[in-house]
Amino acid sequence: MSSFVAKCLDCDAHTPYHPLTNACPECGSEWMEACYDLDTGIFWGSTFADRPASLWRYSELLPLQNPSLYPTIGEGWTPLFPAHQLGMLLGLPNLYIKDERQNPTGSFKDRQAAVTVAALLEHNINEAVICSTGNVAIAFSAAFARAGLKLWAFITSLVPPDKMREVAIYGSQVIKVTGTYDQAKKLAAQFSLERGLFLDRGVRSITALESMKTIAFEIAEQLAKLQLPSNAETKKTSTWSSPDWYIQAVSGAIGPLGVLKGFQEMHAAGLVDKIPALACIQSAGCAPMAKAWEADLDVADPVLSPKTHITTLTTGDPGRAYTLLRQRMLETGGGTIDSVSDEDAFRALGLVAKVEGLSIEPAAAVAFAGLIKLVRQGVIHPDDVVVINCSGHTMPVESRLLGPAWSKDISVDDFEFPTHPREGIVAALTQIDQTQMRNVLVIDDQADARRLIRRLLEAQGTFLVAEAESGPIALQLVKQSVPDLIILDLMMPEMDGFALLDRLRAQMPTHDIPIVVVTAKELTSVEWKRLDGHIEQLMTKGDFFVEELIEEIEEALRQEH
Ligand SMILES: *Cc1c(COP(=O)(O)O)cnc(C)c1O
Ligand SMILES: [Zn+2]
Repeated sequence: MSSFVAKCLDCDAHTPYHPLTNACPECGSEWMEACYDLDTGIFWGSTFADRPASLWRYSELLPLQNPSLYPTIGEGWTPLFPAHQLGMLLGLPNLYIKDERQNPTGSFKDRQAAVTVAALLEHNINEAVICSTGNVAIAFSAAFARAGLKLWAFITSLVPPDKMREVAIYGSQVIKVTGTYDQAKKLAAQFSLERGLFLDRGVRSITALESMKTIAFEIAEQLAKLQLPSNAETKKTSTWSSPDWYIQAVSGAIGPLGVLKGFQEMHAAGLVDKIPALACIQSAGCAPMAKAWEADLDVADPVLSPKTHITTLTTGDPGRAYTLLRQRMLETGGGTIDSVSDEDAFRALGLVAKVEGLSIEPAAAVAFAGLIKLVRQGVIHPDDVVVINCSGHTMPVESRLLGPAWSKDISVDDFEFPTHPREGIVAALTQIDQTQMRNVLVIDDQADARRLIRRLLEAQGTFLVAEAESGPIALQLVKQSVPDLIILDLMMPEMDGFALLDRLRAQMPTHDIPIVVVTAKELTSVEWKRLDGHIEQLMTKGDFFVEELIEEIEEALRQEH
């Protein structure tokens, strides 16, 4: 679909993109960005307008070859609408809300999740790690569930329990880290390195940064439509329109960096005539970028212990993201990085609910409080066209909806005492596993059936699941390590389930393993006889609920021990 290369920000080398490449092959820099051919971009305005309303309409500008692999539910293309009442209160007639609440999990992180999963699918990667202050974990968990991939979600223990449980209900493996967000990020990075897994590295992940451009594209396209006279014949324009300001609450700066890149590309392609100023708003209890901006520094001093209730915004050490953001803002549309108190944010949250009827989350309220502050200070002018990024609450998951084993808890302290032998985080997690986890082998020739059973089991938090796509492969696997239980499909080419069962039962140590047969087949009486006495349970596909499957597995395991 799109033709792009990964360009190193430090040595300019151009290389092909692969999700597992974390550094420039020429100089080792971890900072690479997607680079497109923008020469024909002027035609995109009319090309994109005819496509379905979702972020996928911008495929030429996304780092993907085959976006259709992703089971989309229409991420992006969230409404842009005027905020009349709030605008009136602020004396700002051209105030628009980009309603990111209407994404699948209520924040703009759904864009990052969708584009990232699409890239993983096209590179046949089926397991990944993220670290999050909440919204990224929720968005990724939902997208991973839809795509049937496995996600390890490292979350700081400071994240509100509701949000943390939502991650678990989608079936991700939650690793609750007692420590700050920055410390949790380090553990997640270490874990992904030890396991060789894809890690979303925020601003440094090409898919993550690129996904955020779609906010900019949509704003420009939607704003152009809104600004047409209402009697215009057709609501289609070939050129787009930039606002004067884009406002967002900021933590790691992936949003503003991506949005800015989006406007830069549109500008380079001739689709818009200017690049907006950015207003990046931080929570005062964790505002390293706002402090550095005010002092005119190009490196931000890290905040070691954030003091804010708004956990979503607790990147204490923005690192190079700040330096890049500042440099690019100064080179393009300018703007400001500022901060507001939690109290002002909560007040803004109540105001937006009352005058606009929008239920927003505290992080989004930080952006609205910033808007109010900048209007009062005269930084934003009455005739400016202003777009504010607005996210919402997520689904409240009550604790009784989850089983007891939905998270694994580790503390950064466990890894920071030099007196302890420095064991890896994988070892630490394995130790937790060994006390509670049972090994299950799923044997089924259909990949999607295996994947579904794997996801359902893994979501319990007490099973480690291995897969075999055929009888011979299964026999190989049980030779290497004997599972606690086998889930067996009957209809398979080469060696069917009956034949495999005979082989497993004929020898130690698989002679006694509990076996649950899951089949789509109506059994004949002869076949019933063949199974009788050899298996613990028979379940027919399409005819059982998840709870029953889990119960049968637990029951079969109990009988054994
Ligand atoms: C992630 C998030 C932010 C911070 O975004 P960055 O662009 O990563 O700084 C702000 N608000 C909401 C609602 C978020 O989910
Ligand atoms: Zn390089």
